[in-house]
Amino acid sequence: MPTRRTTRGADRTPLSGDHDVLICGASFAGLAVARELAGSGARVLVLDRYEIGERQTSACGIPTEWLRAMGLMGSHRQTFGRLVVHTPFGTSVLELPWTFSTFDYPELCELLWAQSDASFETAKVNGRSGDVVHTDRGDLSAPVVVDALGWRRVLGSGYQPPDAPLSRGLEVHPWAVGDEMELWIDRKYVPAGYGWSFPAGDETRIGVGSFDPRFHVKDTTVMLAEHLDREPVRYQGNWIPHRLRAATDDGVFFVGDSAGHCLPLTAEGIRTALYFGIACGRELRAVVEGRQPIAAALARYGDFSDSHHWKFEAMLLAQRVVPRVPPRLLHPSIRAMQAKRFVDWSFGHYLDIAPPSFAGEPRSAVVADDLDVVAVGV
Ligand SMILES: Cc1cc2nc3c(=O)[nH]c(=O)nc-3n(C[C@H](O)[C@H](O)[C@H](O)COP(=O)(O)OP(=O)(O)OC[C@H]3O[C@@H](n4cnc5c(N)ncnc54)[C@H](O)[C@@H]3O)c2cc1C
Repeated sequence: MPTRRTTRGADRTPLSGDHDVLICGASFAGLAVARELAGSGARVLVLDRYEIGERQTSACGIPTEWLRAMGLMGSHRQTFGRLVVHTPFGTSVLELPWTFSTFDYPELCELLWAQSDASFETAKVNGRSGDVVHTDRGDLSAPVVVDALGWRRVLGSGYQPPDAPLSRGLEVHPWAVGDEMELWIDRKYVPAGYGWSFPAGDETRIGVGSFDPRFHVKDTTVMLAEHLDREPVRYQGNWIPHRLRAATDDGVFFVGDSAGHCLPLTAEGIRTALYFGIACGRELRAVVEGRQPIAAALARYGDFSDSHHWKFEAMLLAQRVVPRVPPRLLHPSIRAMQAKRFVDWSFGHYLDIAPPSFAGEPRSAVVADDLDVVAVGV
């Protein structure tokens, strides 16, 4: 686990002041928004309770083309051309039409941050009144406020597990190598959900995700790790939203998990956080460059997110159906899906929900001379 570096005590000097854009949250979604604002001349401040890249928030699996499109291959660890799916009655291998990769979280955040020219401060965001954001280091204001703070949606209305549409995910990171990206759809690990093993260089990320927030996944995460002869060490877990929420509310832009942008069924939320972060950042760029009013950006970004509603609902339907398939039928059903035409078709559509072409041309790091960077912190 990364050691804690976030400033403490006397180093936590008071914060105040006005900015053009306040981006709350410095993980995938927040850093993608900041990247789109680079070179706009806007005073952009990014806030997070931890230093950038300090706290890993996922197993860090993503379609390889997204890493390439974003200029983030420097954080790459391993690539997989196939997906191995285990059920109690057999194993199937899906040869994918595109590859998945694992990456290193601190390195990816560092590379993404290097593409922006925003300032950064560590602060815990507590809430908002109008265009004033309250933090544990003081109040900051900006006409444009982005909530990229994850599932809690701190700057919106409350969301409490286990009643909210949230899944539960937990993984361990033993030092162990592997060759395959594997999934387990097996009720001995989780009644509704799946287990996974994602090798990433010298570590493997082994975990269990439950679509039912009431099912605790700690014991079965340990069980899966032990089944694979791996040590259940270096835990990392969180709630994962599985339903789209309004991407704008009361003048605030919500991006990534705070808007429920994580895909149901697969719980893939990194590329969608990047995708919607880029979409939001483009609208905000038009605002700070004087090409559109904030109200237009709110409307356009909200409509863009809403236009994905039916795709997210279709994935949610599949999330509800798969756990109801009797275990004996599961293996033949997945085996039938091994057919190349079906895999190409289904995974092609799946990638198209948030395609890598949306990222545009890869960016290089912003040249330091132009920066007003307070802390890169990685
Ligand atoms: C165990 C697990 C494994 C996963 N594996 C994958 C995977 O392999 N691939 C995939 O695509 N998705 C995966 N996901 C889902 C993915 O992690 C999320 O969808 C993704 O991280 C969402 O990105 P985000 O930037 O919106 O939010 P987050 O990554 O959650 O970032 C939120 C940021 O806000 C900060 N923050 C939160 N509250 C405050 C506050 N009050 N004040 C200041 N800062 C705050 C946090 O420190 C954090 O930096 C996984 C999830 C879990 C739980």
